[in-house]
Amino acid sequence: MSGVILPGSVVNGQPATLGVMGGGQLGRMFVHAAQAMGYYTAVLDPDPASPAGRVSHHHIQTDYLDEQGLAQLMQRCAAITTEFENVPAPALLTLGAHRFVAPASDAVAIAQDRAAEKAHFVKCGVPVAPHAVIETEAQLAAVADDLLPGILKTARLGYDGKGQVRVKTRAELVTAWTELKQVPCVLEKMLPLKDECSVIVARSGRGEMVHFPVQRNLHRDGILAVTEVNPGVIDPLLAQQAVQATKAIAEGLHYVGVLCVEFFVLEGGQLVVNEIAPRPHNSGHYTLDACDQSQFDLQVRTLAGLPLTPPRQHSPAIMLNLLGDLWSEPVKSGSEPKSGSDPDLRSKLGSDPNFGTPRWDKVLALPGTHLHLYGKLSARQGRKMGHLNITGATPEAVRATALQACALLGIEPF
Ligand code: ATP
Ligand code: MG
Repeated sequence: MSGVILPGSVVNGQPATLGVMGGGQLGRMFVHAAQAMGYYTAVLDPDPASPAGRVSHHHIQTDYLDEQGLAQLMQRCAAITTEFENVPAPALLTLGAHRFVAPASDAVAIAQDRAAEKAHFVKCGVPVAPHAVIETEAQLAAVADDLLPGILKTARLGYDGKGQVRVKTRAELVTAWTELKQVPCVLEKMLPLKDECSVIVARSGRGEMVHFPVQRNLHRDGILAVTEVNPGVIDPLLAQQAVQATKAIAEGLHYVGVLCVEFFVLEGGQLVVNEIAPRPHNSGHYTLDACDQSQFDLQVRTLAGLPLTPPRQHSPAIMLNLLGDLWSEPVKSGSEPKSGSDPDLRSKLGSDPNFGTPRWDKVLALPGTHLHLYGKLSARQGRKMGHLNITGATPEAVRATALQACALLGIEPF
């Protein structure tokens, strides 16, 4: 554990600086939270246009394993976190040898591998989906009939439903594994889901742990679409179980930082853990506007060794993910491709600066709407461009506003 890094202090002759590996939207919101508290920030991401790099005091534009880039990050920063789970473990090890790094590389390594992750859940006594690890032809042949129909998932590098194939028969399973280039996989039994939910905890280096309320999540095409957080959206007993399970999983990893655990709620009411994310999570974005501390504030606190106090939700909330699909062509332009599918299209159509942009002015006329866009330059189908948080006096009012926003934006109602 580093000691405490006080906001606005001077560390080794420079302003106290917090670093983040990865420059996506999660890094951007971490940077915003750190800067609001008075820290300087540094981001390492090779992309010159990365959402976090653009708003950080320092942006180191190198590969994640580049020795000079890592050295520069360490030279700048008093402590370093990560914003995506696929940051190479050796990079975190290098950083961890010289700086306080949270979460630590061993916890991140477990989250990077579905097989290791499931083994950890089992060790913590948290129920998982029936599954089999498939790394060899022999393991493929030995799969129990009972696991079909199932979902074949690559053990590593999957996200937003990528690296997954749904299979009904043994023949489909064999084809799917070939399609996935026979990389190590996990076959999970397809479960009858009633609901999905997630829990976000923050754990300090001193072992203090606080959590946000249980969030109900709706996925579409493997991508989170809607998160709703109101008392009662999840049965209170299940919610309590989910929080206990999340704490056990975090404790078992000796985790420091913000951790999200995703769960399935089965038709029969049982709770089954799906996966963990060793960082703030898309399902926690509502905390920016509906809680007295956001998940990013807590990420800053855990990294800087500051005290953790339980966050309080002060408003019912719904979050709508804003995917690139919403950036559409104007009705008049008929057969033109979507603006986002061609980065040059905006300049070609230079006369209309609002071309393809959703009508935020209409959405923001609704009460309790909070727009967060990540500053991505081109919209692609399925790309997370931003999110809309909706807060209000009652769950019913929030839901009504969210449905109005869906109608305005062309998001399928829920
Ligand atoms: P992300 O990292 O973006 O959360 P992912 O690519 O890691 O997603 P999963 O969380 O494994 O993917 O699965 C995506 C979605 O697919 C789940 O939220 C759920 O809706 C569905 N799904 C996954 N596994 C199962 C299962 N065993 N039974 C039924 N549905 C499932
Ligand atoms: Mg998931």
